[in-house]
Amino acid sequence: NDRLSAVDPEVGQAIVRELGRQQSTLEMIASENFAPASVMEAQGSVLTNKYAEGYPGKRYYGGCEHVDVIEQLAIDRVKALFGAEAANVQPHSGAQANAAAMFALLEPGDTIMGLSLAHGGHLTHGMRINFSGKLYNVVPYHVGEQDHLVDMAEVEALALEHRPKMIVAGWSAYSRQLDFAEFRRIADLVGAYLMVDMAHFAGLVAAGLHPNPVPYADVVTTTTHKTLGGPRGGVILSKEEYARKINSAVFPGQQGGPLEHVIAAKAVAFKIAASPEFKERQERTLEGAGLLASRLLKDDVGAAGISVVNGGTDVHLVLVDLRHSELDGQQAEDRLHQIGITVNRNAVPFDPRPPMVSSGLRIGTPALATRGFGAAEFTEVADIIASALIAPATDNELSAETAAGLRDRVHALAAKFPLYPHLEVAQTG
Ligand code: PLP
Repeated sequence: NDRLSAVDPEVGQAIVRELGRQQSTLEMIASENFAPASVMEAQGSVLTNKYAEGYPGKRYYGGCEHVDVIEQLAIDRVKALFGAEAANVQPHSGAQANAAAMFALLEPGDTIMGLSLAHGGHLTHGMRINFSGKLYNVVPYHVGEQDHLVDMAEVEALALEHRPKMIVAGWSAYSRQLDFAEFRRIADLVGAYLMVDMAHFAGLVAAGLHPNPVPYADVVTTTTHKTLGGPRGGVILSKEEYARKINSAVFPGQQGGPLEHVIAAKAVAFKIAASPEFKERQERTLEGAGLLASRLLKDDVGAAGISVVNGGTDVHLVLVDLRHSELDGQQAEDRLHQIGITVNRNAVPFDPRPPMVSSGLRIGTPALATRGFGAAEFTEVADIIASALIAPATDNELSAETAAGLRDRVHALAAKFPLYPHLEVAQTG
């Protein structure tokens, strides 16, 4: 018996329990999603066995005739999806896509600008102990103290002062759209490359529900597992003139053999992302985030000192502002965990609390939209979240009665949309 449950029951059982967790709770981590069975089937295939250093038609290994077909499909599909001139589908992750894109266009010591981590940027946009902060001279830009929008006047002033070689636009925790045309104008003023990291909002772009950065940027990077709903991985899109440099920066610059099983899963995800069903799902994602923001802006929530950063959202996530609340980010995350809703605490701009505690929650709707949630279910989940955050608690524990009531409502929603019904139903006990 070569089944996982027989060969390695410890790992097998933990996977079954994880399936049970995903099925019975409400997943609202903004960077997560549920990959469809077809994507997981491709990823769990014999392609995991294949070495294929190089690119389609130019490999350093024999036997690549089938993976060539697959990788070329992935390239062609992602180019068509976003209107890009060139694509590299080999980066193992979003962080590695960013590392390779920078490696292709920059020299160590060059100056880059990126949104400050504390204001919603990503680690790879210049955080001090990330490769980006160690290899490059980083000048962070920020959001405004009043409106919490990226301060384009500051971006321009810093660019003129520091003459960066690259400006990175993109975010991990921000709830409005960036002005790509304005970033392009500023990059051109100082002769900088413009790199857009659309990891979070790529699914919205694919569906035509968010401006596409591809026409403005020299390079666009993304992950494939967030709103895009595919396997964990990265992609680099670029103008044709940078394609050779980028390909060489990915392999042999940064990586060895590509993960052809993941690339196959990416190809499947790109096909799905071009479908009308995908667009409809992204519409529900946005609708759900909007409904959540409206609920959290109501007076009963406001009375607890809780608000929404930016006063709403244009994307798939809501940033809850707890700076004026007694509840901190850690406590709020724990409370929702207690009733079966998974989110992550997140620093908000100008956060007075330390990052490990923070004064914010980042709550996203992509995974629940994938599960099938529409307006009615998002209205219900928004009310559950609001109720949990404002309910009285002792030592941050909701009363048994309140917790049980909210948990029942969570379970009813989860039960209405069975997840991966074809997989073994978890025996979590
Ligand atoms: N870029 C952005 C904007 C992200 O939010 C993330 C992940 O959260 C990444 C890159 C990194 O992706 P990965 O976790 O696949 O390395």
